[in-house]
Amino acid sequence: MDFETRAIHDGQEPDPATGAVIVPIYQTSTYVQEEVGKHKGYDYSRVGNPTRTALEVALASLENAKHGLAYSSGLGATTTLMHLVDPGERVVLIADVYGGVYRMTSQVYEPKGYHFTYVAADEFDSNLGAYLDDNVKMVWIETPSNPLLNVVDIRKAADAAHKVGAILAVDNTFATPYLQQPLDLGADVVVHSTTKYLGGHSDVIGGFIATNDDAIGERLRFLQKSLGAVPGPFDSWLVLRGLKTLAVRMRQHCENAHIIASFLEQHDAVEKVLYPGLASHPGHAVAAQQMRDFGGMISFLARSPEEAEAICARTKLFALAESLGGVESLIELPAKMTHASTSSAPFASPANLVRLSVGIESVTDLLADLEHALAL
Ligand SMILES: *Cc1c(COP(=O)(O)O)cnc(C)c1O
Repeated sequence: MDFETRAIHDGQEPDPATGAVIVPIYQTSTYVQEEVGKHKGYDYSRVGNPTRTALEVALASLENAKHGLAYSSGLGATTTLMHLVDPGERVVLIADVYGGVYRMTSQVYEPKGYHFTYVAADEFDSNLGAYLDDNVKMVWIETPSNPLLNVVDIRKAADAAHKVGAILAVDNTFATPYLQQPLDLGADVVVHSTTKYLGGHSDVIGGFIATNDDAIGERLRFLQKSLGAVPGPFDSWLVLRGLKTLAVRMRQHCENAHIIASFLEQHDAVEKVLYPGLASHPGHAVAAQQMRDFGGMISFLARSPEEAEAICARTKLFALAESLGGVESLIELPAKMTHASTSSAPFASPANLVRLSVGIESVTDLLADLEHALAL
């Protein structure tokens, strides 16, 4: 069945006990057993919960994955995945990795003896092999990346990683499975912050991992219960509800973002627009090949850091806030907000970079808000 149908039905059969069309929020920590060890598939909610199972089945289906695991946050998923790597081993990452992932690698895992190499986006497609050897266990990419909207060729990265026996992990938060399905392009695992487009309404924190590799899937299931970064039933339910409208929301996010990127590109107060949907973007051709459309995230360079900050303060519809992927439009300054943790990294976010999460409001109203904020 098609994506839109699976988003609404997979893992979401009407409740057999009551006929409820919507999967109930099974707000329970434990489950009664008929006799010792004889139960209906659930014994304790850290290990499994029916609402969480519904989310895991539905979202795995959308990523064309056999195995899906829900976590308490995107970083909860990431730290669980890091347990596939041992101290002394190396992970190679795209340089402008999400700020919270960089904080984790540089300040939590590096001091424990794990090794990390950050490769610039423009080198990734052409020269990744030069950074790989037998000690590299994982290659980690985001595409498009946060906040610079760099695009990496997933198929090429997978081939390079597999040549040295490493796995490729793709953070698919910006694209969502509606726009891009990394497992079909050779990736071994897909990671999500479901906090963003999948939840879609800025009302929940969550994470997810999908894979088609049985050994990795089994290990992640074991780590899920053993490390305990699990989402509660209500949070699982909110993400599950978000999935139902993912396709229609993404279509509108993309349409609005394309119009806004074109508007920004011809505006005098804007030095440069970073949006993979623009022909001027260096990753445009690769994005066009591996994505259905170009997403709802846009970054742009203002003429100075002061102007960038002033623009963020002047918008009214675009709320000044961290996070992204909700129905409402947001604006932020990565260097001082979401990506402050990378300020001392060689790939620090430029001080004049503004990031927009384009919502699904009327694009006419969004354009008017930006027009006003950019007027000097
Ligand atoms: C937000 C985000 C994360 C972290 O997810 P949380 O749910 O906030 O823990 C990871 N990667 C990307 C690309 C993100 O935008």
